[in-house]
Amino acid sequence: MGTFNLLMLQNVACPNCRQFQNWTVQFKYGDCWLHKYGLFEELRWDGNDVGVRAAKIVLVEGICEEMCKHCANDEIYARIFIDNNKIVAASLVVKNIIFPISSDGNYMIIN
Ligand SMILES: [Zn+2]
Repeated sequence: MGTFNLLMLQNVACPNCRQFQNWTVQFKYGDCWLHKYGLFEELRWDGNDVGVRAAKIVLVEGICEEMCKHCANDEIYARIFIDNNKIVAASLVVKNIIFPISSDGNYMIIN
Protein backbone atom coordinates (compact mmCIF):
# COMPACT_ATOMS: atom_id res chain seq x y z
CA MET A 1 0.00 0.00 0.00
CA GLY A 2 1.00 3.63 -0.10
CA THR A 3 2.15 4.04 -3.64
CA PHE A 4 -0.14 4.47 -6.59
CA ASN A 5 -0.07 5.12 -10.31
CA LEU A 6 -1.28 8.08 -12.31
CA LEU A 7 -3.66 8.28 -15.22
CA MET A 8 -3.37 11.53 -17.17
CA LEU A 9 -6.63 12.66 -18.74
CA GLN A 10 -6.74 15.56 -21.15
CA ASN A 11 -9.69 17.80 -21.73
CA VAL A 12 -12.33 15.81 -19.86
CA ALA A 13 -15.51 17.34 -18.42
CA CYS A 14 -15.95 17.81 -14.69
CA PRO A 15 -18.83 15.54 -13.61
CA ASN A 16 -20.17 18.32 -11.42
CA CYS A 17 -20.13 21.43 -13.66
CA ARG A 18 -19.32 19.92 -17.10
CA GLN A 19 -16.42 22.28 -17.75
CA PHE A 20 -13.39 20.75 -19.44
CA GLN A 21 -9.89 20.53 -18.01
CA ASN A 22 -6.95 18.15 -17.61
CA TRP A 23 -6.95 15.71 -14.70
CA THR A 24 -4.43 13.54 -12.89
CA VAL A 25 -6.05 10.42 -11.48
CA GLN A 26 -4.40 8.36 -8.75
CA PHE A 27 -5.20 4.67 -8.84
CA LYS A 28 -3.88 1.46 -7.34
CA TYR A 29 -3.66 -1.35 -9.82
CA GLY A 30 -0.77 -3.13 -11.53
CA ASP A 31 2.76 -2.31 -10.39
CA CYS A 32 2.06 0.65 -8.11
CA TRP A 33 5.11 2.84 -8.50
CA LEU A 34 4.01 6.28 -9.70
CA HIS A 35 3.88 5.13 -13.31
CA LYS A 36 2.23 7.70 -15.55
CA TYR A 37 -0.28 6.35 -18.04
CA GLY A 38 -2.44 7.76 -20.77
CA LEU A 39 -5.52 6.13 -22.23
CA PHE A 40 -4.88 2.92 -24.18
CA GLU A 41 -1.55 2.30 -22.54
CA GLU A 42 -0.62 -1.08 -21.14
CA LEU A 43 -0.19 -1.62 -17.40
CA ARG A 44 3.19 -2.61 -16.01
CA TRP A 45 3.58 -5.51 -13.58
CA ASP A 46 6.32 -7.26 -11.59
CA GLY A 47 6.94 -4.77 -8.83
CA ASN A 48 4.67 -3.46 -6.11
CA ASP A 49 1.73 -5.33 -7.65
CA VAL A 50 -1.91 -4.79 -6.78
CA GLY A 51 -4.59 -6.80 -8.56
CA VAL A 52 -4.58 -9.80 -10.82
CA ARG A 53 -2.48 -9.73 -13.94
CA ALA A 54 -4.42 -12.54 -15.60
CA ALA A 55 -7.78 -10.79 -15.21
CA LYS A 56 -9.41 -9.77 -18.49
CA ILE A 57 -11.79 -6.97 -17.54
CA VAL A 58 -11.37 -4.94 -14.39
CA LEU A 59 -13.03 -1.85 -12.96
CA VAL A 60 -10.63 0.27 -10.93
CA GLU A 61 -11.53 3.28 -8.87
CA GLY A 62 -9.26 6.30 -8.92
CA ILE A 63 -9.37 9.76 -7.40
CA CYS A 64 -8.43 13.05 -9.04
CA GLU A 65 -5.48 14.91 -7.56
CA GLU A 66 -6.67 18.36 -8.47
CA MET A 67 -9.88 20.15 -7.78
CA CYS A 68 -12.07 21.44 -10.57
CA LYS A 69 -10.83 24.88 -11.66
CA HIS A 70 -14.36 25.97 -12.40
CA CYS A 71 -16.60 24.73 -9.56
CA ALA A 72 -13.85 23.93 -6.99
CA ASN A 73 -15.20 20.43 -6.38
CA ASP A 74 -12.26 18.62 -4.78
CA GLU A 75 -13.70 15.13 -4.53
CA ILE A 76 -13.86 13.74 -8.03
CA TYR A 77 -13.46 10.03 -8.65
CA ALA A 78 -12.70 8.04 -11.77
CA ARG A 79 -14.04 4.71 -12.95
CA ILE A 80 -11.18 3.20 -14.88
CA PHE A 81 -11.75 0.23 -17.15
CA ILE A 82 -8.93 -2.19 -17.79
CA ASP A 83 -9.24 -4.61 -20.67
CA ASN A 84 -6.43 -7.16 -21.16
CA ASN A 85 -4.14 -4.97 -19.06
CA LYS A 86 -4.83 -1.88 -21.11
CA ILE A 87 -6.53 1.23 -19.75
CA VAL A 88 -9.35 1.53 -22.26
CA ALA A 89 -11.68 4.06 -20.62
CA ALA A 90 -12.07 6.38 -17.68
CA SER A 91 -15.20 8.21 -16.55
CA LEU A 92 -15.22 10.94 -13.94
CA VAL A 93 -17.91 10.81 -11.27
CA VAL A 94 -18.74 12.59 -8.00
CA LYS A 95 -19.43 9.48 -5.92
CA ASN A 96 -16.98 6.82 -4.88
CA ILE A 97 -17.73 3.11 -5.02
CA ILE A 98 -18.46 1.34 -1.75
CA PHE A 99 -16.30 -1.74 -2.10
CA PRO A 100 -17.06 -4.81 0.03
CA ILE A 101 -14.86 -5.17 3.10
CA SER A 102 -13.60 -8.46 1.68
CA SER A 103 -12.07 -6.77 -1.38
CA ASP A 104 -8.31 -6.26 -1.26
CA GLY A 105 -8.25 -2.89 -2.98
CA ASN A 106 -10.24 -0.38 -4.95
CA TYR A 107 -10.90 -2.59 -7.92
CA MET A 108 -13.36 -5.21 -9.07
CA ILE A 109 -12.60 -8.04 -11.44
CA ILE A 110 -15.46 -8.43 -13.88
CA ASN A 111 -14.05 -11.23 -15.97
ZN1 LIG B 1 -16.43 21.40 -11.93
